[in-house]
Amino acid sequence: MKGDRPLSSPFNRHLQLRWRFLPQVGPFWSGMAIALLLSIFLHFQFPISTLAQVNPQTPSPPSLPSPQVHPLPSTLAQWQDIGNQGDYFSEISPTELGYLVWSRFPVKIYVEPPSEELVESNSESGTALHRSLAWFEAVTQSLQEWNAYLPLEQVDSPEAADISIWRSTPPLQGWREGNLRARSAETRYQIYRVNPASGPAYLTQRFNILLRPSQTEEYIRAAARHELGHALGIWGHSLSETDALYFSQVRNPPPISPRDVNTLKRIYQQPTQLGWPLD
Ligand SMILES: [Zn+2]
Repeated sequence: MKGDRPLSSPFNRHLQLRWRFLPQVGPFWSGMAIALLLSIFLHFQFPISTLAQVNPQTPSPPSLPSPQVHPLPSTLAQWQDIGNQGDYFSEISPTELGYLVWSRFPVKIYVEPPSEELVESNSESGTALHRSLAWFEAVTQSLQEWNAYLPLEQVDSPEAADISIWRSTPPLQGWREGNLRARSAETRYQIYRVNPASGPAYLTQRFNILLRPSQTEEYIRAAARHELGHALGIWGHSLSETDALYFSQVRNPPPISPRDVNTLKRIYQQPTQLGWPLD
């Protein structure tokens, strides 16, 4: 997203992340292989802002479902903003497949734990272990904040996750412009095909979030809150600094605001091709 804008070679980044998973290739990866194919043709995985680079002659895959609205999750159905604070839905970009809504709950989220070497190491690296644990804790807290609005589940392996959050500094951006900027986070998604053991195949999204470790816990929590908002469907930014999805980091990061939730709810009332049976 803006502020966490794509790199010059985002595809390589994805491949690097993918390599981390490769030792445990399973049925899931057949889905990812098809996803890779799809993304080569359609560049689904890039934010809207880069879609202008897509070759207009790329072929469309056959028999995509028509866009439809999924049932609203009960947590969002019950949500009411008594203060009528409005939303920033107009700032949200649909993808070529429609809005990035999840339709199967709970959404499974992996948060990178401290490495085993760090845990097993002696007290010399106690500070590093402490920082890793603090990062993990801060990210987990932001996950729990969103769990009030969409059912989420923390899982132990990235293979099982819809959204993976990595303790990793996003690559510098802007080298082409000669104007390097450090970023606190980066969120990317890919679309892939799921072939369940029973039931029809469908398309779904999968997110990878890189979250810089060298920040205060408050900023880590705020960045995780913001990026999770993107991954849960808010693919755009608020123009108000009192919203968690404000486009820039602020001195006193706000919690998830009623406007954030109003926006999320409107997104989940929009049609999408994701999650519906293929063929
Ligand atoms: Zn953002």
